[in-house]
Amino acid sequence: MIESSTQAHYVPADLPTSLRHFIGGEFVDSLGGETFDVLDPVSNQTYATAAAGQQADVDLAVAAAKHAFDTGPWPRMLPRVRARVLHRIADAVEEQDTRLAELETFDTGLPITQALGQAQRASENFRFFADLIVAQADDTYKVPGKQINYVNRKPVGVAGLITPWNTPFMLESWKLAPALASGCTVVLKPAEFTPLSASLWAEIFAAAGVPDGVFNLVNGLGEEAGDALVKHPDVPLISFTGETTTGQTIYRNCAAHLKGMSMELGGKSPAVVFADADLDAAIDSTLFGVFSLNGERCTASSRILVERSIYDEFCARYAARAASIVVGDPHDPTTEVGALVHPEHYAKVMSYVEIGKTEGRLLAGGGRPAGLPEWLAQGNYVSPTVFANVAPTARIFQEEIFGPVVTITPFETDAEALTLANGVKYGLAAYIWTTDLVRAHNFAQSVDAGMVWLNSHNVRDLRTPFGGVKASGLGHEGGYRSIDFYTDSQAVHITLAPVHTPRFGGK
Ligand code: NAD
Repeated sequence: MIESSTQAHYVPADLPTSLRHFIGGEFVDSLGGETFDVLDPVSNQTYATAAAGQQADVDLAVAAAKHAFDTGPWPRMLPRVRARVLHRIADAVEEQDTRLAELETFDTGLPITQALGQAQRASENFRFFADLIVAQADDTYKVPGKQINYVNRKPVGVAGLITPWNTPFMLESWKLAPALASGCTVVLKPAEFTPLSASLWAEIFAAAGVPDGVFNLVNGLGEEAGDALVKHPDVPLISFTGETTTGQTIYRNCAAHLKGMSMELGGKSPAVVFADADLDAAIDSTLFGVFSLNGERCTASSRILVERSIYDEFCARYAARAASIVVGDPHDPTTEVGALVHPEHYAKVMSYVEIGKTEGRLLAGGGRPAGLPEWLAQGNYVSPTVFANVAPTARIFQEEIFGPVVTITPFETDAEALTLANGVKYGLAAYIWTTDLVRAHNFAQSVDAGMVWLNSHNVRDLRTPFGGVKASGLGHEGGYRSIDFYTDSQAVHITLAPVHTPRFGGK
């Protein structure tokens, strides 16, 4: 571990100290005045207070979104007109990506270079869905018996968007862009650990010409604001990203209203490294896969499975590299791992590190990094931690840690690798490293994962489906699937010639 070299806590110039809801085109406080504190993960000091939304605030936001949906121009605009607004949003994000990344880094503890990449991805999301909604052609087709059918694609209504804290700005864009492109109006409930970026959207949307009431934001706790949004009868659809247990609660609550749902949940994704793999590339990729974004990545390759014949070499090389990862000031461009988002999450990750010491052989890390400068001493720092010889029954093998902690487990045969890969409740991603493409494709067919990468880390095209199986999610978003989710398809049947109708009555 080499800590990065800046000397003082960087505070962005335009950091707000008060974060409010955004309802009907205006920033507002909670009706009852409730607030909660927002910490920055380096000092763990409160840098802002945020309005804590309650039922009444959610009611107001949903009413504003419903009014904009029922009477406003947004759902009625030609897709190409809406697309122009979305392109302006993409431009604005692109133009101020450095500022957005600095604020995001301050709020989340993500290393600045990685936050910058996430801001750029947010811009791409808007550009992609702007183009997609214009390219989208609804079906019209002739059917036997002189009929034509066509499909009306209608925005569903007020979309409830509930997001986690790990890469808030980008993940919010992943829901906002397709929801807005589809013509929905939205109420966003961002994660309470990281509410900053959601307010930035409010500014960007207003400047880009999104009409009042189309984008609404309610800050607050999950059990209060989130719960009220999920249960609101005027919100027909919930897009949720977060923990599996939260997803289960939301699923139950959506059932009462038969709401549309999309759930992107937790993961414990395997990276399977066969002896014939390009070992240098596999090591680079599996290090990046679990230690980038501070390990707070849903698709993290947090369980590495390595063929026995190369196991010792892999472990030795991997641990040496992990020990040299630069941990430190998230604002320093040389930092590779920053501060975890919040003391509560830090305590959770640290507890898994301690559990790991009883379940596996510690090869690297294992606690707070040594030698942090004084001014980082209060931050939520965990050294990149590697455990070897971890049995498949171990908690650190089975449970999502969502931090810079990885397990390495040996296997002897392809069949054993598959059993290990599939032997957890999750099924989000899988990474396969082998130069034998037949083996790779066979493995891909059988592994329980919504997304599989062969000899690569998780680079993906926005047209492809994104989502998990088993406890990692319900439904897929991405490309047209996102548009399908935020729209209802209404079939209209037209008869071009008299049709025989069986005569009922009047005989
Ligand atoms: P979380 O489930 O604790 O919270 C997510 C959001 O849900 C927050 O906004 C929270 O306030 C809200 N919430 C909590 N309880 C609620 C309730 N009862 N009703 C309505 N809303 C409620 O998750 P987190 O800790 O913020 O995020 C980390 C998790 O997110 C990890 O499990 C990670 O794998 C997952 N994640 C998944 C993906 C994916 O695409 N599959 C992407 C990123 C993160």
